[in-house]
Amino acid sequence: MTNPLLQNFNTPFSTAPFSKIKTEHFKPAFTEAIKKARQEIAGISNSKEGPTFGNTVEALDFSGQKLDRISSIFFNLNSAETNDEIQKIAQEVSPMLTEFANDIRLNEKLFKRVKHIYDIKDALNLTAEQGTLISNNYKSFVRNGANLSKKDKSELRKIDTDLSKLKLKFGENVLAETNAFEFHITDKDNLKGLPESALEAARILAKQKNKDGWIFTLDYPSYIPFMTYAETRELRKKMAVAFGSKAFHNNTYDNQQIVLDIVKLRHKRANLLGYKTHALFVLEERMAETPKNVTDFLEDLLTKAKPAAKKEFDSLAELAKKDGIDQLEKWDAPFYSEKLKKEVFDFDEEALRPYFKLENVIDGVFTISNKLYDLVFEEIHDIDIYHDDVKSYKVTDTSGNFIAILYADFFPRKGKRNGAWMTSYKGQWIKDGENSRPHISIVCNFTKPTETKPSLLTFTEVTTLFHEFGHALHGMLADTTYQSLSGTNVYWDFVELPSQLLENWCYEKEALNLFAKHYETNKPIPMELIEKIKQSSNFLEGIQTLRQLSFGILDMNWHGKSPSGIKNVKEYETESFKNTQLYPDVKDNCMSTSFSHIFQGGYSSGYYSYKWAEVLDADAFALFLENGIFDKQTAQKFKTTILTKGGTQKPMDLYLKFRGKKPTNNALLKRAGLVK
Ligand SMILES: [Zn+2]
Repeated sequence: MTNPLLQNFNTPFSTAPFSKIKTEHFKPAFTEAIKKARQEIAGISNSKEGPTFGNTVEALDFSGQKLDRISSIFFNLNSAETNDEIQKIAQEVSPMLTEFANDIRLNEKLFKRVKHIYDIKDALNLTAEQGTLISNNYKSFVRNGANLSKKDKSELRKIDTDLSKLKLKFGENVLAETNAFEFHITDKDNLKGLPESALEAARILAKQKNKDGWIFTLDYPSYIPFMTYAETRELRKKMAVAFGSKAFHNNTYDNQQIVLDIVKLRHKRANLLGYKTHALFVLEERMAETPKNVTDFLEDLLTKAKPAAKKEFDSLAELAKKDGIDQLEKWDAPFYSEKLKKEVFDFDEEALRPYFKLENVIDGVFTISNKLYDLVFEEIHDIDIYHDDVKSYKVTDTSGNFIAILYADFFPRKGKRNGAWMTSYKGQWIKDGENSRPHISIVCNFTKPTETKPSLLTFTEVTTLFHEFGHALHGMLADTTYQSLSGTNVYWDFVELPSQLLENWCYEKEALNLFAKHYETNKPIPMELIEKIKQSSNFLEGIQTLRQLSFGILDMNWHGKSPSGIKNVKEYETESFKNTQLYPDVKDNCMSTSFSHIFQGGYSSGYYSYKWAEVLDADAFALFLENGIFDKQTAQKFKTTILTKGGTQKPMDLYLKFRGKKPTNNALLKRAGLVK
């Protein structure tokens, strides 16, 4: 039996041959690809030749490419199109991959060669990119235990294997709990306030399950409209408590012990490597550099945002009082926010939807990318996709040069995790003079088309699409020699700059006029609606900021201190939230047990980076505002200093080249309306 994953992909642009891949191909492909990668590494470390940059550092970066491709295909599918079988394989191969990675990082012969190059690097006349590559390489050895004793090395390996299993389980539990809940409504009275779009989606969902009435779930496109519009408070409470108690039910899917195990193992790992805390370990390789810088940054914003947040909370409470609500609760938040927004702006989010037909928004983001970065997108049908919902595009520049393949997967379905993300099926690198272009994918969970209507996005969904597309630009325009420094392979607190920067175009008339057209009449979005979008973008900004800061502070509390004394997840979380909470605590809810960003994903000690990147994007966009949002020269500068450069240089150096000065908090606070 031939395994398509192990063949050369004989496909257009060497894209992943999804139609030929069967689930049972993955495990043997991993085994074989790991074996091959091990041979490549052995070839480098056992070489009879003395170490050179080329035969060691560069050779390492180009090793294991087959394994990389199989891994990206598999783990991308595990996020976007998973099932029990795939999850089981993930559980099996994750420890294999961790073991392989650790074997490289704990390979003493290899380390000796890398260390030799590192020690003489200044005499080698390396390019900036090569300098970064050798530093990263050396540090990744040291940070993975290369200087440890034999005993400590094996301890470290055990911790890493355990951690990778725990993180996977954490994510599976959250997904299982999300899928386990459905709110089946048969009494029409309980639907008061809900817009037609939400009702129709709920009706279709019920129909699919052969049930009468309406079904609501914890998937965002179902959950958010329910919380925003459902007038019956008891039902909002039921939904909110279900949402907030994922993996906090003392059942098989409970994540409390997993949270404690993860933070304790991370702390132990940091100690073993000579760092006092996990946060100190992580931040060594961040733009922020130290936990103190992060805490000062969060506290500064907290001081400035809190008075505004309290005022906003009071206006919500006042409005709720008119409905006889004495104490505003968490499940009232979206509902009264929307109501207040209507009162202040006479503005219904739903009124925007007709102007944001998904296809028009996609055209819009393509046109904007063309105006800024000379990209051309052509939908193609001759490459394999992994689900019928997925669209594929060939991306070229205006001279016809091939830039990238782009996949786009927009709608929720079973087996796809919540939220939106960008990922890649193939990286970018330059080898033997050939620039091997990337395959990028964006995955979202947008409002689905219905029997009578196309997919009409909320404005939040529009900004989400622009956000992920900003990441995709970073990936597609990558132009570096080494894959490990390419595209979004940058410091975590720098990775959100391209994504958040692109969101700014959603608020500009000049940009909206390009694509925000009524889906039935084709009339452009009225000026007054654009004005309202802009005005309302800062609506309740204090509360939003406090929420983001609360997550950042919670993250730093989990990872910036010794966890040895922590007994109870919920208690610890409540204590950590005490300066950032406006609403009463809900005792049945726990944020940490479904805080996938920091316990499953890579954001531990890094949640602050969303705000950090906002500072950068506000500061960067200020230059576009000065010169014009479609100013070619400014865009060109952003492309050549940041988008093409990936992680080849320190982010602050790249940023200085683009902006000519360091960023400050001012542009953000001003844009957010938190200072005058
Ligand atoms: Zn992002």
